[in-house]
Amino acid sequence: MSSPTAVQAATATPPMIDPFGRRVSYLRVSVTDRCDFRCVYCMSEHMTFLPKKDLLSLEELDRLCSGFVARGVDKLRITGGEPLVRKNIMWLFEALSRHLRSGALKELTLTTNGSQLPKFAQSLKDTGVRRINVSLDTLKADRFKAITRWGDFKGVMDGIDAAEKAGLEVKINAVALKGVNEDEIDDLVRFAHGRGFDLTLIETMPMGDIDGDRTDQYLPLSMVRARLADSFTLEDIPYRTGGPARYVKVQETGGRLGFITPMTHNFCESCNRVRLTCTGTLYMCLGQDDAADLRAALRSSSDDTQLVQAIDEAIARKPKGHDFIIDRRTKKPSVARHMSLTGG
Ligand code: SAM
Ligand code: SF4
Repeated sequence: MSSPTAVQAATATPPMIDPFGRRVSYLRVSVTDRCDFRCVYCMSEHMTFLPKKDLLSLEELDRLCSGFVARGVDKLRITGGEPLVRKNIMWLFEALSRHLRSGALKELTLTTNGSQLPKFAQSLKDTGVRRINVSLDTLKADRFKAITRWGDFKGVMDGIDAAEKAGLEVKINAVALKGVNEDEIDDLVRFAHGRGFDLTLIETMPMGDIDGDRTDQYLPLSMVRARLADSFTLEDIPYRTGGPARYVKVQETGGRLGFITPMTHNFCESCNRVRLTCTGTLYMCLGQDDAADLRAALRSSSDDTQLVQAIDEAIARKPKGHDFIIDRRTKKPSVARHMSLTGG
């Protein structure tokens, strides 16, 4: 009988625990830094993307993700950039779905801007994806154009319809933007809950250079919540999705509303995740620059021993948390890389 591979051997090892006692069980993977939109808070209009040759192949991404699954990761989120614009992306979903069937993975999911869902929703469902996050910051077509620069509102709404039709559970993510969509949050709540979707609101984070000034965009969710309380009855609930969102139930709609508040409330104490870029760089914290080069470990051998070792070494230096700051004196982003590289 052949000897067990490093990945099989690692399955028998204890789960990954970081220096602060947090179990790392969630990997987010940015499969491309490219996107068919140019959202104002995420990218500058004329972004320089990574040279295509630097990208890991889909086979390499599969091998890397599988290494994490072998080390106890049971939730994988595919993101980007826009994950569904990566060529042949369904191959990766299909490959990774074997871990759902084996029971090693509890969830395989994605975050998308929705534009490609008319094409992919059914195939995603067929590979075992159950829930998806769709980013939607406004319900007004002209405003949508202003926020995304290149996006088409109708295409995204068609995408949401396609996801629903395919039987995918949809959660809407909206970034709360001062002077842009702050007058629309009530409508987003009514829209999402009216369709039976959860809605999560997100504060803008200072990541990467954009064309504008982030202080002009930043809207604390504490303020949004106080305003929502004028229209709705919000009841704190213990519901969690394994992420940093804190949820309330909106009594009038019966729906759930989440708040992700990296700026006003630091949620790092319960962080269970790490993030992999499309070039194989692992960031142990969204808000810190320390990273591990897993591509080198991956390519050094066809055996996974060095890869698993590099993963373990990286987890052993996961930092305690981020220190994002947005104020008028701090003009530079807290981290230089864009959210589209690390994956939101
Ligand atoms: N393109 C996909 C999408 O838009 O859903 C996936 C990648 S995108 C980077 C993931 C999420 O990050 C989106 O919900 C987006 O609104 C959010 N995001 C991007 N830049 C952000 C920033 N600077 N602060 C907070 N959220 C941001
Ligand atoms: Fe693209 Fe998503 Fe960034 Fe918008 S938020 S530019 S859709 S990656």
